[in-house]
Amino acid sequence: MAMTADHQKKPDPQLVEPAIRSIDVLSSGWAEQHEEHRYGTWKPPLLWALTSRSWVKLPLSYFLIDHRDGQVLFDTGLDPAIATDPNYISQWIGRFLLRRIFRLHISDDDRLDSKLERLGVDPKDIRTAVISHLHFDHIGGLAHIPQAKLLVSEREWAQLSGPHPEREWILREHIDIPGAQWQPFPYQPTDDPLLEEFEGFHDVAGDGSMLLLPTPGHTPGSLSMLIRQHGWKPILLAGDVTYEARLLDQGTLPGIGDAKTLKETYAKIRRLREHLPGLVVVPSHDFAATDMIADATH
Ligand SMILES: [Zn+2]
Repeated sequence: MAMTADHQKKPDPQLVEPAIRSIDVLSSGWAEQHEEHRYGTWKPPLLWALTSRSWVKLPLSYFLIDHRDGQVLFDTGLDPAIATDPNYISQWIGRFLLRRIFRLHISDDDRLDSKLERLGVDPKDIRTAVISHLHFDHIGGLAHIPQAKLLVSEREWAQLSGPHPEREWILREHIDIPGAQWQPFPYQPTDDPLLEEFEGFHDVAGDGSMLLLPTPGHTPGSLSMLIRQHGWKPILLAGDVTYEARLLDQGTLPGIGDAKTLKETYAKIRRLREHLPGLVVVPSHDFAATDMIADATH
């Protein structure tokens, strides 16, 4: 009898609702970038942008996380208007350089609202969007989710008030849009040994399931999201820290960003993986993203 009573006190794991039910990988279509951009080079960015003739494909991915408190996006993809509206980028130099660093293969179907509706999700149900960094290929869906809280690091947000953010591919007119509920946040310090490498963290839902960590280098305020869910492998949505998970393992730096800071961030992520064996690092522009998420969540 005593054994039965003890047994009954323990919650049935099948009945405990998980914090996160699923993660979907969404796509804004695909693009091409120069080999030097993706895999690095000794050449400075302007030189390879103007002279390179080698193009490699990249996916344009972002992520939908079904959390029990509401739907969360990690980035919002690209606005297809960039491919059809000649004035999407207001500065001529930006329009000129865009054609030299990207060939875009996106259609109107690749809009955030269409992608969500295809998954059966009403854009109005997005409660929070975490923005890994403010580059145009991560903020393109903001207009479809005016009700969502938009989380960005304070360091990244500070770039908007710099003299020429558009020179860093930060298009103020598509970021600081009327009604957008931006909430730049400071990181909270921690003495958790798991996070000792990082300057702090931000807990999105307050339950430890989605922790934002500073992973600068691609941009000064870039962040990654550490997802932990019982029964899954730990996942790090890494934004553009690297373009492919294997490049992080190899220590191969891309052709843009701050090389010294990126190297430090690579080392921090490797240390995190020592603490969390099996950590699956998922960059936004890695063709394996969908397979990696499927592998980690089964
Ligand atoms: Zn990107």
